[in-house]
Amino acid sequence: MPAPLISIAEARQRVLARVQPLEAERVPVAHALDRVLAEDIQATGDVPPFPSSAMDGYAIKEGPAGRELSLVGESRAGAPSDHTLGDGEAVRISTGAAVPAGATAVIAQENVDVRDHKVLTNAPVLSGDHIRAAGEVMRAGTVVLRKGTTLGAAELGAAIAAGAGKALVSRRPEVRVLCTGDELREPGEPLGPGEIHNSNGPMLVALAKRTGASSPPSTVLPDVRDETEAALGAALEEAHVVIVSGGVSVGPHDHVKPALASLGVEEAFWGVALQPGKPTWFGVGGKTLVFGLPGNPVSAVVTFALFARPGIAAMQGAVAKPPFSAQATLTTGVRRNSRREQALRVRLERRGEKTIATPNGPQDSHVVTSLIGADALALIPAGEGMLEAGTNVALEPLPN
Ligand code: AMP
Ligand code: MG
Repeated sequence: MPAPLISIAEARQRVLARVQPLEAERVPVAHALDRVLAEDIQATGDVPPFPSSAMDGYAIKEGPAGRELSLVGESRAGAPSDHTLGDGEAVRISTGAAVPAGATAVIAQENVDVRDHKVLTNAPVLSGDHIRAAGEVMRAGTVVLRKGTTLGAAELGAAIAAGAGKALVSRRPEVRVLCTGDELREPGEPLGPGEIHNSNGPMLVALAKRTGASSPPSTVLPDVRDETEAALGAALEEAHVVIVSGGVSVGPHDHVKPALASLGVEEAFWGVALQPGKPTWFGVGGKTLVFGLPGNPVSAVVTFALFARPGIAAMQGAVAKPPFSAQATLTTGVRRNSRREQALRVRLERRGEKTIATPNGPQDSHVVTSLIGADALALIPAGEGMLEAGTNVALEPLPN
């Protein structure tokens, strides 16, 4: 009797239980896109470091409209004025330039008339007007980014503004993607009878890279036992994570499971109560996690999203980022699967307070185009009959 199928949550738990965190390395922040912080980043100084102008205008002292002030200098971004401003004086100032000592406000240039080195103020000015205080964005010592944060563009900018030159980040997991199938041809190659293009390989490599991993291009393997075993053996030596596409079922041409068994890779699960993605295999060989994903392209992406991605992220110590919304309301009814949870590709929209989810076209596992424009996976619990429109369902992130 085959072992009973396990739930999505149980399968993910078994993956996370086998994850071993990778060591950390220090890299230039500018090169740390998509990496995961292995320590907090604190501001090394105040940001901005000095009181600066929020406007192009004149640094002056506060006071009523109608004053005539002497123009005594200029403070530009990167070239501060060393003049200490006295009563009755004004210093021309650019946005971001240091406010000179003695000035208490900036008046915008559209609120003055300037003639013969005289500045006539046309508006009253209060202390602090248009001045950005030192440390207004962050104070020296403030924790700007927490350990476990995945660095996107905004995080890189904030870390650099905070004074960081290098960041301690997790090593990149080494991933190898192997695609099994006699029918597979590389992208752009002409197809012979019964052949298709290897779309999974480049997709899975792309998804692994988007999860912070390093991966060479995928390799195609014929459905031959010896070659399958040799390629898996080499990948196990090199990688933290091996992802195999196809060949994991129980047909006469599916050699992945017996090859992994003879390489001593220990099975942690086989078969998930999931549609698409039931024939998913996971095991561990030494320190290497091995995912045997189904060959159908949608199944491969869905199972990567649900199982491989959390594992690769956890290796780097990434704190899971919740999707757009944890839940959404279905706009249409969905026929349930009596035994398996469904991972529906959906488009999300905000409607008032709610997030609504609409299935993104046909949901069959070979329809790779159903992934285009999908924002998330909506989980439809197993059961009889329809899940009605208006029902709330849980969402899972769908990387792209
Ligand atoms: P398998 O899991 O090997 O039984 O494959 C299931 C289905 O996925 C078959 O229709 C395969 O032709 C297809 N398939 C397998 N590998 C790939 C791949 N790398 N790219 C696109 N389709 C694939
Ligand atoms: Mg196959």
